[in-house]
Amino acid sequence: MKRITIAIDGFSSTGKSTLAKQLAKALSYVYVDTGAMYRAVTLFAMQKGFIGSGKNDFDGLVRSLEDIVLKFSYNEELGFAEMFLNGKNVEKDIRTLEVSRNVSQVAEIEEVRAKLVELQKEMGKEKGVVMDGRDIGTVVFPNAELKIFMTASPEKRAYRRYKELLERGDNVVYEDVLENVQKRDYIDSHREISPLKKADDAVEFDNSDMGLKEQFERLHNHALHVIDR
Ligand code: C5P
Repeated sequence: MKRITIAIDGFSSTGKSTLAKQLAKALSYVYVDTGAMYRAVTLFAMQKGFIGSGKNDFDGLVRSLEDIVLKFSYNEELGFAEMFLNGKNVEKDIRTLEVSRNVSQVAEIEEVRAKLVELQKEMGKEKGVVMDGRDIGTVVFPNAELKIFMTASPEKRAYRRYKELLERGDNVVYEDVLENVQKRDYIDSHREISPLKKADDAVEFDNSDMGLKEQFERLHNHALHVIDR
């Protein structure tokens, strides 16, 4: 069967990664969560004190970019690849609200984007990949055979994220999560470099009122149709 590139972009907490993961599994494709890469760079910046000690030192972060080694390593048990930052599994640490609060600022930095986009292009060059993020269909793989743009109301997205954070034991308030989702939407869609926007040839997918099973079936059928063409 022909192997294609599938780009899934959209707003925060639309459930992109859950769906992308399922789709990659069904097609035996590689799944790449590019948000995890921006989150890992953010965690690095927080750990090294470039962020969070009063004033942000983004120049310092840019100077240290070559010290950051990112790697995905597949976890058989979980069924997906976990993020490693300089050899350490940071899959849990990159999902905190604290990292979410800082990540969009880090993702605005030109040098950070250049580094990560290059890595992403390399990871997808053999095709047979499902990659999710904000600029995959517009910048990373503008020639992807299938582009999906996912959206849902901010309240629905914040509620989903809030439940996820509670389930993993984080002590969070719904209003804070909603505020974070709205702030990230704003920064992500208004930044100068590679803002979040729907590619002209992307299919829009609003999942505000759709269960996971239905979302997966629709997307899977659509992907099989594109692969068969
Ligand atoms: O997908 P996730 O919500 O984990 O992404 C975290 C943040 O990383 C986004 O809010 C955005 O600022 C940034 N991001 C990006 N470009 C991507 C993926 C994520 O700017 N391709």
